[in-house]
Amino acid sequence: MTGLGGGLKGGARLAVLQVGGPLGGFLPADGLDVALADADLAARGAALGHGGLVAFDDSLEPADVLRHLWQFAAAESCGACSPCRVGSRRGLELAAAGDDPGPEWARLSRVLEEASLCAFGRRLPAAVRSLVRAYGQRLPTGWAT
Ligand code: SF4
Repeated sequence: MTGLGGGLKGGARLAVLQVGGPLGGFLPADGLDVALADADLAARGAALGHGGLVAFDDSLEPADVLRHLWQFAAAESCGACSPCRVGSRRGLELAAAGDDPGPEWARLSRVLEEASLCAFGRRLPAAVRSLVRAYGQRLPTGWAT
């Protein structure tokens, strides 16, 4: 990673790379050998989105990154449909609790994916799953289902 743009600031180590914006997806530090193309990223559970790249170093707690993702979702949900309006707030509550979300996440993610009016709500579960998979065992694995 140090060969790319001089590496991370202060010699920090990359933990995960966010691609395509907050709801695009995340790649693990050892999984960056992938083309920045829709099909290639989709095969990794991510999306190209607006093409942005954000590096998260290993000084951040994975639980804080997960909570931040849900805070973004709850803040930016326009509120026009209840699956996303209510679901994003419930997801934030679950993430803030820090426990494995258990079967509630399976139900919540299904409602978000199938009943949200637009791609914002429908894309939320995939973004959460890709974040949890990118962090491996450092987050409750129930979020990856
Ligand atoms: S899914 Fe789209 S329409 Fe529904 S609340 Fe979220 S942002 Fe608004």
